[in-house]
Amino acid sequence: MPVFRRIKSMARTTTTRLALSYLAIIMAMSIGFGVAFFFTSDRALHRQEPPPERSTSSSESIDPDDRLRLRDPIVEAYLRQRAAEGRHELLIRLIGLNAVALVLGGGLSYYLARRTLRPIEVNMEAQAQFVSDASHELRTPLTVLQTTNEVALRKPKLSETDARDLLEHNVAEVAKLQALTDGLLRLARPDKKLIRTPVSLQTIASEAMNGLIPAAQSRHIRIEDNTPDINVFGDPAALTQALSVLLDNAIKYSPQGSTITLTGARSSRLSEVSVIDHGPGISPNDLPHIFDRFYRADQSRSHSENTTADGYGIGLSLAKKIVHQMDGEIIASSTPGKGSTFTIKLPAA
Ligand code: ADP
Repeated sequence: MPVFRRIKSMARTTTTRLALSYLAIIMAMSIGFGVAFFFTSDRALHRQEPPPERSTSSSESIDPDDRLRLRDPIVEAYLRQRAAEGRHELLIRLIGLNAVALVLGGGLSYYLARRTLRPIEVNMEAQAQFVSDASHELRTPLTVLQTTNEVALRKPKLSETDARDLLEHNVAEVAKLQALTDGLLRLARPDKKLIRTPVSLQTIASEAMNGLIPAAQSRHIRIEDNTPDINVFGDPAALTQALSVLLDNAIKYSPQGSTITLTGARSSRLSEVSVIDHGPGISPNDLPHIFDRFYRADQSRSHSENTTADGYGIGLSLAKKIVHQMDGEIIASSTPGKGSTFTIKLPAA
């Protein structure tokens, strides 16, 4: 995919630039220390050299033996030669050390630059993936809208009933698109600060049920609310939203006339609320993925003719995001053909 390739090549260029900056700092320090060391050592070497002829002759404080030795031209030449050799050797060693610093520093700089930029690269890739998935999901309902409208326009005459059907279909598709964009916005929005206050699971359950009673009634589904009056810590509005996702799915995927049960339990650390349905269940292959963004079990996709089971695979990922933000857990268990149980666990209040 070109966008991912672009991110990779951008990451490579930025890594190289950052590595070169790190290397420049390392080398500036290494060369700086090298030069300082060289001049300090050079001064020390100078001190070992014999003093110039005129200073020795005029100096009274030099020991006479030393004066003899220092005056010896062979010793003088020898000492000068040793000092020059020492300086040369020091210079070679310092150049060698800097070459080693260049090689090792280059490797270290690249490693550090890679480590610094990796999380940014991962983030950018995730964002690009999200945009690509979202565009893909948006394209399907838009294509459906376009095709049905074009087919209707091609008809020489459109009866009032046909026009009404078309409009109803369009309104339903637009409503689904709206639900999808709402969900996408909520998923993409940077994490909003959620409040943490003691809230009763019973309150959350009845709030979630209120919004979904019409959907349940239209499918003759009975909701049995056995949620205990247990307090948990969390954001009431966000928790209602998470539980609504579970309840909405239970209604969508359960057969007409079946019963959905809401239940809960208290524990010392985490208290829980569960939604139990008698729907088709989820296959063991799908179960580990249902909380992934845009994941829909094949079974649900093939049921897309059934408008009640329409969805885009973002409900559960949104619920998971909310519950995790509140240090809770969300789990699903299912027996294919028998039904599913979704449980939200939250810090007990
Ligand atoms: P959506 O329901 O919009 O497709 P979700 O993220 O809410 O997206 O769910 C992901 C998938 O998990 C669904 O497509 C469906 O295959 C499966 N699923 C979720 N809840 C249930 C349930 N109660 N019974 C059966 N399958 C379910």
